[in-house]
Amino acid sequence: MSARTLKLDDSLYQYILDVSLREHPILAELRDANSASRHGHMQVAPEQAQFMAMLVKLTSALRTLEIGVFTGYSTLSVALALPPVGRIIACDISKTFTDQARIYWQRARVAHKIDLRLGPALETLDDLLAKGENGTFDFAFIDADKVSYDNYYERCLHLLRPGGLIAIDNVLWGGSVASPSSGDDSESTVALRALNEKLHNDERIDLSLLPIGDGLTLARKR
Ligand code: SAH
Ligand code: CA
Repeated sequence: MSARTLKLDDSLYQYILDVSLREHPILAELRDANSASRHGHMQVAPEQAQFMAMLVKLTSALRTLEIGVFTGYSTLSVALALPPVGRIIACDISKTFTDQARIYWQRARVAHKIDLRLGPALETLDDLLAKGENGTFDFAFIDADKVSYDNYYERCLHLLRPGGLIAIDNVLWGGSVASPSSGDDSESTVALRALNEKLHNDERIDLSLLPIGDGLTLARKR
């Protein structure tokens, strides 16, 4: 029973939260608000946000990127983990979602660490590259539209320093990536499958795919 990953039923999942979740009160409030809202399922799982905060600390990250903010839960978790001089360039196209996010960032007193760029994330990333910011970021979290993931990945890889880390969300896509013949061939599923296969043999990175949340790939730039 130890040579493979455990299957989580509801009670074991709840146990993990019970014995390990350390959620900032504003994060808890935001998660509550999300769970009552129509799009709330887009937020990352709380234990995943806590894990990403751990990654940010482990890598001593200062300059970070987030592609896909929604109401700012993952952003807030990373912002709280960054030291006072740490910064996040946070990309999203939705003013409605990110207006919500700003309220929580301000209340948690980390708004000054977050530079929100409203607009298509690809344009923001290309702007950064055009300004010569290649190799200057320590950490990136990719969690916006799935069909553009490969574009985001390629941009982030250039923007990261060697040793920097890219975390890619939803790479298991509810399990649908694993059943090519029998079902879900939506654009998003096809894109995620292709990216997963591409990363498997990508010599530019060290790779780990974690079954946390909806699947989180870690790609460390070599
Ligand atoms: N990381 C967030 C969830 C992000 S949901 C959390 O944990 O709460 C995906 C987000 O991607 C949405 O807010 C959506 O507005 C944004 N998005 C979709 N297409 C985009 C694009 N082309 N550029 C930037 N953001 C985009
Ligand atoms: Ca996600």
